[in-house]
Amino acid sequence: MSASSDPILIAGAGIGGLCAALALLRAGQDVRVLEQAPELGEVGAGLTVQPSATRAVDFLGLGDDLREVADMSGQPYIFHYRTGEQIGEITGVGKVTDENGVSWYHRIHRADFHAMLVDAIRALSPGAIRLNARVAGVEQDEIGVSVTLENGEVLKGRALIGADGSRSTVRNCLFDTPMPQFRGQVAYRSLIPMERVAHLLEDHPAGTYVGPGAIFNRYPVRQGKLLNCIGIVETAAWTEEGWACPATRAEFLEKFAGWHESLTGLIREAPEEGLFKWALYDREPLAEWTKGRITLLGDAAHPILPFLGLAGAMAVEDGVVLGRAIAATPDDLPGAFARYEAARKPRTDDIFEKSREQGRIFQDPDTDGFASKKRPHSDKTLFAYDPATVAI
Ligand SMILES: Cc1cc2nc3c(=O)[nH]c(=O)nc-3n(C[C@H](O)[C@H](O)[C@H](O)COP(=O)(O)OP(=O)(O)OC[C@H]3O[C@@H](n4cnc5c(N)ncnc54)[C@H](O)[C@@H]3O)c2cc1C
Repeated sequence: MSASSDPILIAGAGIGGLCAALALLRAGQDVRVLEQAPELGEVGAGLTVQPSATRAVDFLGLGDDLREVADMSGQPYIFHYRTGEQIGEITGVGKVTDENGVSWYHRIHRADFHAMLVDAIRALSPGAIRLNARVAGVEQDEIGVSVTLENGEVLKGRALIGADGSRSTVRNCLFDTPMPQFRGQVAYRSLIPMERVAHLLEDHPAGTYVGPGAIFNRYPVRQGKLLNCIGIVETAAWTEEGWACPATRAEFLEKFAGWHESLTGLIREAPEEGLFKWALYDREPLAEWTKGRITLLGDAAHPILPFLGLAGAMAVEDGVVLGRAIAATPDDLPGAFARYEAARKPRTDDIFEKSREQGRIFQDPDTDGFASKKRPHSDKTLFAYDPATVAI
């Protein structure tokens, strides 16, 4: 089905697929990324890159670029939804830099990180990313894979990595698996020019308000030029699709009626044209991600709720570990995929459960008892993971 000169195919040019592509190109592999979108643009809002993912970005050679566009303005605090008082800190471990003084938190605009990865890939291989290429079907035999695009074109590869997001076509071709489940929560988000709201932030640019059935998170991105605001609120039903359904300021404000003025004041400053909402979905973890010459990564393998801020980080870590596994045995791709899965699955299964648990604790009706609750985020071992050196 394939020749040894065929590339490794990657479905999806999201954060995960691009990290895998860059790791593979740096390891001397030929890759082709197939992306359904007609163009790669300014999409998404804030993402947090925490220490384990920062190590992955350093491994990819982009650490300095990340630090150039990231906000690193310190420890995020937790505030009471009604009183606005500080009732905790996100990590619960009392510090925001490691022993070398390197920040634990890089808060970035997804579009900046995405563009950085695209540029690095195109510098190494100008034709590596193919747009308007929606994967519709996959087949494999002992020597290769064959991918059918929506337009009927068939592409050959030595292997296929399904990095095509939470509604992954590759996953659906490989496994009989239920589609993502709506988790009864909707996220509202806005990027607000910092000059409009700096006076409302006092000394704490980054923080999370917790309350019954909802949380509101804010942090600067783009070196403090924009404030990323995201409010996640329990919602009975959802019928729309995608990451960018338009929302209104009135709707956002209504969801947070009765919450402290220091956050509703921010919503009142949110530019109406940049207000979006999307629903939270996850899928129960798969028993396996790999079949022969096809494997999954990122949201395609394990969509994770955002309450630990680690869904994007898991995709970044996956990309680096997969790249290392393939670099170690480039002539045995099924073996590399099996070792990648064995190395990564316990980590992502753990983060999946802990993200759900953190959501329950954040949104518990007993906000006054919040400070006494042990939170997954206080577990330092979450951050100690190093995708650049973990055994594979
Ligand atoms: C447009 C967009 C905006 C986002 N905005 C935010 C945000 O603001 N904040 C946040 O926390 N998270 C956001 N996310 C999600 C976040 O990026 C992911 O949860 C996380 O980074 C995991 O990345 P991933 O690469 O596994 O999946 P994704 O980022 O979802 O990337 C999957 C990619 O695969 C492509 N794709 C899907 N199906 C096919 C197919 N059949 N063939 C070819 N290509 C396909 C998609 O177009 C996409 O580019 C966004 C994702 C997308 C796609």
